[in-house]
Amino acid sequence: MSGSNLFTENFKAEPYWWENAALMPAGNNQLPDSVDVLIIGAGYTGLHAAIQTARAGRKTVIIDAEAAGWGCSSRNGGQISTSVKPGFAKLKSRYGEQLAMEILSEGQASRDYIEDFIKSEKIDCNFETVGRFHGAHTKGQYEKLARECSEPSNPVFETEAFVVPKQDQKSELGTQAYYGGIVYPKHASIDPAKYHAGLLEVTRQAGVEIISYCKAEAINREMNSFEIKTTKGIISAKKVVVATNGYTSSLTPWLRNRVISIGSYIIATEEIPEDLMQKLFPTNRILSDTRKLVYYYRPTPDRKRVLFGGRVSLYETDPRKSGPKLHRDLVALFPELKETRISHSWAGFVAYTFDELMHAGERDGIYYATGYCGSGVGMASYLGKRIGQQVADKTKEVTAFGQIPFKGRPYYNGIPWFLAPSVVACRIRDKIGF
Ligand SMILES: Cc1cc2nc3c(=O)[nH]c(=O)nc-3n(C[C@H](O)[C@H](O)[C@H](O)COP(=O)(O)OP(=O)(O)OC[C@H]3O[C@@H](n4cnc5c(N)ncnc54)[C@H](O)[C@@H]3O)c2cc1C
Repeated sequence: MSGSNLFTENFKAEPYWWENAALMPAGNNQLPDSVDVLIIGAGYTGLHAAIQTARAGRKTVIIDAEAAGWGCSSRNGGQISTSVKPGFAKLKSRYGEQLAMEILSEGQASRDYIEDFIKSEKIDCNFETVGRFHGAHTKGQYEKLARECSEPSNPVFETEAFVVPKQDQKSELGTQAYYGGIVYPKHASIDPAKYHAGLLEVTRQAGVEIISYCKAEAINREMNSFEIKTTKGIISAKKVVVATNGYTSSLTPWLRNRVISIGSYIIATEEIPEDLMQKLFPTNRILSDTRKLVYYYRPTPDRKRVLFGGRVSLYETDPRKSGPKLHRDLVALFPELKETRISHSWAGFVAYTFDELMHAGERDGIYYATGYCGSGVGMASYLGKRIGQQVADKTKEVTAFGQIPFKGRPYYNGIPWFLAPSVVACRIRDKIGF
């Protein structure tokens, strides 16, 4: 199969998740003249922050340039981990032992927070602690995983990870492409758009007004407040939270110079037969591997389709072009899916940072939480909550991600000119297994 034959007749260049949780239609609500808190961006970060400020009695409005949830929060792979990429040794050498431990603890806290929140608010979003199988794409990587597993280097929490050698891999995954792998049993999966829709309802119930298709165009500082110019008029706010993450722009130059927006691409296949699903994906685990240009994939919650994501191009591209490339890589792992077509292909912009860590805090009176480095389902929820508590003066405690330096780079002003060479370097490293 090649070219346009790869797509089903009903192919959509939009998220599969929108089939079960459509985005909120544009309302005709007016922008009020003034609020206590204005939040820009209606993804997980903005909504969790708003719940805190509204429940603390602050009049809160959220605006979004598109429909609420249009950003990454209804487009992602629905994989939940403890979200912190650098390990303890690296964190300790950068920030000292105490802060390194706090960072890792908050990673764990983000995983636990989202589970508790979903359960206590009774959000129907297929949350399940399914565990993750992380495949080793070379023998050397398998040995590294096995070493790490036998000498756990995380002094903060018990991951309960265990290795799966190649000869036992069949019980995890129907592919010969890996040299074994590691299982993290506590990682979880979710339907991200159903989670966003449920969260939106909780936010509304808390008394927050959500105004879609209302883009913030300028933030001006007044004496004791801010005046925000939007496409629906001007609003005055005592406090402002910027929750734009991978869609951060020249609206907030300080943040734009620190956040690297990178496209992440993903496809859903058409439905596949039950016995084939069982053979390829005998469990409901979420999946990823040791490549620098990591693949992330999983069965859909109904176990009828495969979702497969990754970075397949040097430059940002159209989902119609990324779809066939992802399909090629999917088939390299599972040749049985050669004739399986693509029903959906989409993309979104994730926010990376130069230190591979998320950041949350306040700058010149503007609050932010951002830079989840592709792991924002749990962490955007958690840091949204934490920043909301700060804004509502519910706590003076600053998250560990507000205590570490948030740096840009000389000659970087929001355009990632280094992305294509970095992708090439990662491809080479993946090929030689380094
Ligand atoms: C394809 C893909 C797969 C992913 N998979 C995973 C995964 O499996 N696990 C995981 O943990 N994370 C994953 N992520 C990342 C995760 O989805 C994000 O980290 C998270 O959703 C960020 O939430 P947010 O609320 O901060 O930002 P978003 O949900 O992106 O929301 C930002 C919002 O800000 C709005 N906005 C921007 N500028 C303005 C403006 N000027 N005025 C008004 N509104 C504005 C945008 O319209 C947007 O709706 C994935 C992301 C993508 C794209």
